[in-house]
Amino acid sequence: MDVSDIEGDITEVLLTEQQIAEKIAELARRIEADYAGQNLLIVGVLRGAVMVMADLARELRMHIEMDWMAVSSYGSGTQSSGVVRILKDLDTDIAGRTVLIVEDIIDSGLTLSWLLANLRSRGAESVEICALLRKPDAVKVEIDVKYIGHDIPNQFVVGYGLDYAERYRNLKSIGILAPHVYS
Ligand code: 5GP
Ligand code: MG
Ligand code: MG
Repeated sequence: MDVSDIEGDITEVLLTEQQIAEKIAELARRIEADYAGQNLLIVGVLRGAVMVMADLARELRMHIEMDWMAVSSYGSGTQSSGVVRILKDLDTDIAGRTVLIVEDIIDSGLTLSWLLANLRSRGAESVEICALLRKPDAVKVEIDVKYIGHDIPNQFVVGYGLDYAERYRNLKSIGILAPHVYS
């Protein structure tokens, strides 16, 4: 769906469908160059990264494998605590594999920093991260992210896989959610 289909729910479009597509293509060119000739496994983090995975994978002009993980942060409230529980693990044994984690957004970085350490401990040859969005103001832990699409302001965004209460994932663009929706 488009912003016009949910009139008033989005206060500002941060990235249009076309801007997202251009960025995904740019990331794909870099990934192809960096991983040429390698047997790359891309790992999508459910559910937010579904759109990025689908578009990035189809944009890559090389053989890849795809797998998925689902994780949830323990902790009260809306802040991620850094203590992570695996809801769905990989189906792939990644010992010796070249792995690229694909994420929608890095907020505090706590989830990804845990995931990175977890996958690296399984004996992968390499584990790197590709995230479409990052909120620079919110980063609490330094993580080494190889590919970043856009840095965005520290506001709650939805669309292109990103939800509020499981809605808005099917919005084609990425925008700032209007306060009236959650207040
Ligand atoms: P953190 O980096 O804080 O550990 O957690 C990142 C996760 O929180 C993301 O994968 C995403 O699911 C969620 N998240 C963080 N910021 C936003 C946002 O602005 N909008 C939405 N919809 N989810 C967000
Ligand atoms: Mg995510
Ligand atoms: Mg969510």
